[in-house]
Amino acid sequence: MRLSPNQAELRIRDEVRAFLAENLPAPEEIPADFDARVAYLRGWQRQLHEARLVNVTWPEEYGGRNATLMEQIVVNQELARAGAPALPGEVGLDVVGPTIVEQGTPEQKARYVKRILSGEDIWCQGFSEPNAGSDLASLRTRAEDKGDHFVLTGQKTWTSWAQYASWCAVLARTDLDAPAHRGISYLIVDMGSPGIEVRPLVQMTGDAEFSEVFFDGVVVPRENLLGELNGGWKLAMHTLTNERGPVVLSHQVKLRVALDALVADAARIRRDGAAAVEHPHVRASLARAHVAVEVLRHQAYRSMGTAIARGGAGVETSVDKLLMATADQRLGEACLEVLGPHAVWPESAPEGTSAQVGQHTYLYYRAASIYGGTAQIQKNIVAERILGLPRSA
Ligand SMILES: Cc1cc2nc3c(=O)[nH]c(=O)nc-3n(C[C@H](O)[C@H](O)[C@H](O)COP(=O)(O)OP(=O)(O)OC[C@H]3O[C@@H](n4cnc5c(N)ncnc54)[C@H](O)[C@@H]3O)c2cc1C
Repeated sequence: MRLSPNQAELRIRDEVRAFLAENLPAPEEIPADFDARVAYLRGWQRQLHEARLVNVTWPEEYGGRNATLMEQIVVNQELARAGAPALPGEVGLDVVGPTIVEQGTPEQKARYVKRILSGEDIWCQGFSEPNAGSDLASLRTRAEDKGDHFVLTGQKTWTSWAQYASWCAVLARTDLDAPAHRGISYLIVDMGSPGIEVRPLVQMTGDAEFSEVFFDGVVVPRENLLGELNGGWKLAMHTLTNERGPVVLSHQVKLRVALDALVADAARIRRDGAAAVEHPHVRASLARAHVAVEVLRHQAYRSMGTAIARGGAGVETSVDKLLMATADQRLGEACLEVLGPHAVWPESAPEGTSAQVGQHTYLYYRAASIYGGTAQIQKNIVAERILGLPRSA
């Protein structure tokens, strides 16, 4: 993979830097309350979109720039390096949107894509069910085919952003007699439809980022079918590959920025009469996090090189996902080691340290080896599809 930027990449890098110099919100401007934070960050996404810096690879006619994947990576890395907040429309932008851009009809693209970019529409992904997570093909939500519409009945769970979403990408069974993977369709569901109930679930971070979603006889127009009837499994795999893959290069920058800040904190925070950084277990923990982030960085370049050469992400995203979760969790553990009691009592920490976010980082990243497909499932994929080992029972 080419590592030195070309002229177009340097141009867009400078454009992002100039934009951030003018517009980057200071951390204290971002509300702590989750609802208020989401509202604030929608404004931030709109600003970025107005500068045409959101999902630059998407077609120009829908608000992108037809840019290359490398240019997209440059934009994302600059945002991560500056500590720019994550965009609330991430499910639409990174997970469902790419599937619509590639597989949607011209009408579907015209209807959804611009509003995904601007943050006017937040999307959620209704795949997992109470009894269908790793074994997604056993899902039981049903969409009865009534000709010009479907009638949707069932339950989804762990649906991130559902309480804010205008649209949900739902996997539903449309053929009860077909083998599990073949009778599933991919439907775009208006979250304002009668018959939908969203019940937010509070995570151990204290935020209610995901919800249970119940569908009771919800009418979904046929024009909201994405791809072919009973062809949803292939699209779902495309969506999950996007969830696991292309974000990795900017994510490793985000982790590096957080780790560098933590190393600086370790020199300022005192424990048992010495700087935290003097304690062997703190040093060991920071070293473990450093190694995990470095490994992730190298893997990220390697798999992006493969994706660019191939023209799309592939099975290597399972390796990315495993290493990303490892690096996330090593960083979370290092936060607790460095902060010690300040992690649970941030007000006691020296001003300017990352104590306010340290405990959240640790708690949130416990989920990193679960969402987007668990670590065990990624290991199975690596074993079977990369190493050619026999299928697990
Ligand atoms: C923060 C967060 C956000 C999420 N957001 C969304 C979302 O927006 N939309 C959505 O659809 N889903 C979402 N999920 C759900 C996520 O995709 C599932 O939790 C995940 O796929 C695992 O499914 P499960 O929870 O049912 O666990 P299970 O599948 O029941 O697994 C339980 C345990 O058994 C292990 N296991 C299962 N099968 C095997 C096997 N064959 N071999 C070895 N081990 C196995 C798993 O690794 C796991 O450790 C989210 C989850 C989290 C934590």
